[in-house]
Amino acid sequence: MPCRKKPQISKRLMMAHSKDLLVLENFIGGKFVPCSSYIDSYNPSTGDVYCRVPDSGKEEVEAAVRAAQDAFPVWSSRSPLERSQILNKLADLIEHDLEAFAKAESKDQGKTITFARTVDIPRAVYNFRFFASSILHHVTECTEMATMGCVHYTSRAPVGVAGLISPWNLPLYLLTWKIAPAIACGNTVVAKPSEMTSVTAWMMCKLLEKAGVPHGVVNVVFGTGAKAGEALVCHPDVPLISFTGSTLTAQRITEKSAPHCKKLSLELGGKNPAIIFNDADLSQCIPTTLKSSFANQGEICLCTSRIFVQRGIYSEFLKRFVAEAKKWKAGNPSDPTVSMGALISKEHLEKVRSYVKRAQAEGARVLCGEGVDSLDLPPGNKKGYFMLPTVIAEVKDESCCMQEEIFGPVTCVVAFDTEEEVIKRANSVKYGLAATVWSSNVGCVHRVARRLQSGLVWTNCWLIRDLNLPFGGMKASGIGREGAKDSYEFFTEVKTITIKH
Ligand code: NAD
Repeated sequence: MPCRKKPQISKRLMMAHSKDLLVLENFIGGKFVPCSSYIDSYNPSTGDVYCRVPDSGKEEVEAAVRAAQDAFPVWSSRSPLERSQILNKLADLIEHDLEAFAKAESKDQGKTITFARTVDIPRAVYNFRFFASSILHHVTECTEMATMGCVHYTSRAPVGVAGLISPWNLPLYLLTWKIAPAIACGNTVVAKPSEMTSVTAWMMCKLLEKAGVPHGVVNVVFGTGAKAGEALVCHPDVPLISFTGSTLTAQRITEKSAPHCKKLSLELGGKNPAIIFNDADLSQCIPTTLKSSFANQGEICLCTSRIFVQRGIYSEFLKRFVAEAKKWKAGNPSDPTVSMGALISKEHLEKVRSYVKRAQAEGARVLCGEGVDSLDLPPGNKKGYFMLPTVIAEVKDESCCMQEEIFGPVTCVVAFDTEEEVIKRANSVKYGLAATVWSSNVGCVHRVARRLQSGLVWTNCWLIRDLNLPFGGMKASGIGREGAKDSYEFFTEVKTITIKH
């Protein structure tokens, strides 16, 4: 179940110290608009409230949808080239302020500044550049039925007002992965970032006008999922919802949107396996599997959380993997020597820790990290939500640690004997998002990749992405795919036209 900071809602004027806090405003119809109530937002690395986020509801969503509807006729009739130029300009402006965005993302989310600087913000910039380019290269289909004297062709048009809902782990990265294709295709949008990480979306709004984005094309409404998110999902004039977040929330969104027959794209959780065969190159596999397990505090939907190692190299892998994991330093996200920052919230930290306790209670062995090694934090970070990279061995496949998404720096290592066996065990979870396979036998990696129930399979690598190709999960990991062609198809409606001569 997703874990959130408890919203502490208070009237704006009642907060005596609000002048010391960063106060965000909704962005509707090209203007920043204050809200009548706010949510406290914490700096995860200190545990202090530092920001106040609008606690929007139906009224604010209604205003944003109206602004998006008003902007739609003009924006959707602009040429792809005009829209592309604006997207490129926005990319340039974010890139110009990259350092400020990276600092803000790190403070808001808890991730290291290095990660925000090298992954989150560059990718947000690239999302705009990528869709600015890809929108210029789509072709529609045409067939001829000579015997009937007909040609058929397809035509694609933007859908209308797109509702975009994003999570807290890669805030600007994932929000722009939705905004860029949506507006490139000619839609207007109402976006709702996570209430826990709203700052960089608000900063981006400040650049829209300068980039040439007309008023009302991008509207951002801040607030909780239950109030603002649900108002967007239930709005009858929002025909399309693109959602990234937990499987549980997706179920709720599916139910709530069903009466309106909305177009849905759902990018959800994972319980991703790494399968490491006896002939794997451990000099590549170990550092990459450390990253795939612990990057961004393990708070990436694509992170590895079940490591299956073939019996012949199991002991050696475990020894070397744990030794390397112990070298990962957790601490102040601004410290360049730190590999892991803080988890998103106190509640989430407690939830992640509780999985480690449950594994121990079931007889598993915690080899490093939580409860085993001591966490040495600078004085200013003592109240932050930190934990160490944690490796657990001898875990049963039925254990909650092997079945449920933990979404933190915890990974389980288990042994296997045969290819057939490991495929079955890797597929024995409800999720199907991503997998990695390590072997120097090309035939083996092809065979295993084909049989894994997983939307993405990386062999002998992790997280190398070509945005042209489909991204998304199977089973409880999602519905639909995102990417150059897939996002274009999702954010447009297709029509088949027949001409008889
Ligand atoms: P979450 O589902 O709690 O929240 C995601 C977003 O949905 C937030 O903006 C939230 O406010 C909103 N929301 C919550 N309830 C809602 C409702 N009833 N109606 C409308 N909106 C609602 O997820 P989270 O905790 O923010 O993010 C972590 C989850 O996201 C993990 O499960 C992770 O695997 C998943 N995730 C998936 C991908 C992917 O591409 N597959 C990428 C990143 C994160």
